[in-house]
Amino acid sequence: MKKIMKLCLAFVLALSLCNIQIIEANNGINEFVRRLYKECLNRNADANGLQYWVNRIEKKEISVHEMVQGFFFSNEMNKANLNVWQWTDRCYKTLLNRKADAKGKEYWVNILIHKMSRREMLDQFMQANEFKKLCESYGLKVEQNTKPQTQNTTTGDALKDYVVRLYRNVLGREADSAGLEHWFTLLMEKRTTPYLVATESFFHSAEFNQRSLSSQALVNILYATFLNRTPDVQGNAYWLSRINRKESRDAIIHDFATSVEFKSLMEKTGWKARSNAYIAARLNNVNDILIVANKKHKLPDYYEPTGLVAPNVNHRNGTQFMRPEAARALERMFAAARQAGMYLIAGSGYRSYATQVSTYNYWASLYGYAGADRVSARAGYSEHQTGLAMDIGRDDGYAYLDTAFEYTAEAQWLKENAYRFGFILRYPKGKEHITGYSFESWHFRYIGEDYAKALVSEGGLEYTMEEYFGFEGGVNY
Ligand SMILES: [Zn+2]
Repeated sequence: MKKIMKLCLAFVLALSLCNIQIIEANNGINEFVRRLYKECLNRNADANGLQYWVNRIEKKEISVHEMVQGFFFSNEMNKANLNVWQWTDRCYKTLLNRKADAKGKEYWVNILIHKMSRREMLDQFMQANEFKKLCESYGLKVEQNTKPQTQNTTTGDALKDYVVRLYRNVLGREADSAGLEHWFTLLMEKRTTPYLVATESFFHSAEFNQRSLSSQALVNILYATFLNRTPDVQGNAYWLSRINRKESRDAIIHDFATSVEFKSLMEKTGWKARSNAYIAARLNNVNDILIVANKKHKLPDYYEPTGLVAPNVNHRNGTQFMRPEAARALERMFAAARQAGMYLIAGSGYRSYATQVSTYNYWASLYGYAGADRVSARAGYSEHQTGLAMDIGRDDGYAYLDTAFEYTAEAQWLKENAYRFGFILRYPKGKEHITGYSFESWHFRYIGEDYAKALVSEGGLEYTMEEYFGFEGGVNY
């Protein structure tokens, strides 16, 4: 009996010695990760999180740099919502292991406000000798960051960075200059959106499909592309589980591309603001399909589009006219609706300046000018004068130009499918204060397929031209 006991004891001892050795080998990394939890996230490491980061470092999946980024740009940190002073304190304590001196703190706060993103500042801190020494004291070697970092800081360049990230992460190569220019220009002209470039082009390219990627590699790519960071623990586990449940890649990519974090990152690139000046000329050019007519944008008196044609569809109230590109698109849309079992009619297309004068006066005679302003445009302000709009109804005339039209299958189909043909629902529900008009489930406006698709992908089926292009609208003239 005693012998057995002794043997057991020896075995247990051997085992624990073994364990001690393993712990010692990993001790530095373990402690370093614990330290990141404590200093950066202000809490003790949980077992799963600790194991996750240690594994990734040991397997050389990520560098120490990337792990630090993972902590500083985690959801948890995001939620802490630190101001620039708190952020600077956190960087000093975590990366340099000391309190910020007053001068240094002032310097970095100033940089953060005026010159650098938090990401760039973090990179600067990790270049410091103090940080290298700190890492070495944990037995960690800090490799020079070999991956080229995004250097550009101005807003337009930040948008270029997004394209660079797509090439680097999704295709696994650097962008060629022609390709970079191509996508950048499309984005600047707002003919596409950050969402569409990723989902429809890069992630659907043959080059991407040829890569055979593990689930983890895919998650890394999605984070790097859309969120410009490495995955945090919970996020990583969540996405892996969805991928391993065999959810479609497109669904997962879509969720990344519509995430709040990605959208706010894109807003910071100045994507919206920058493009205003760029396309302002188009929005004011009567010959352009983007010409704006609302209560703040008046068309020239007696302006008439050239080459108006009657679309080859069923009409109501006599023959209706549109600009040729809009007419052709309307024909395609009506044909597709018919395939879906719906019969549409073109109710009211181009209206001349003179017609608009009498239409407005008619409503004014019934409701007064204030009442007329709610339902009809003053001459020169109507979209119908552009030849790019059409009021659409059902062939049996049911609920024509009536609020009840909204509840028909036809109205629903139009709302959901118009963008595929270059049309948008121009006066959506709840957007009166933006467009200046009450909800009109029947009024569709042609802006071309690229733009209609881009607009819907950016803001949904009830997004307005005012919001997408960022120009003025509203109920007052
Ligand atoms: Zn209309």
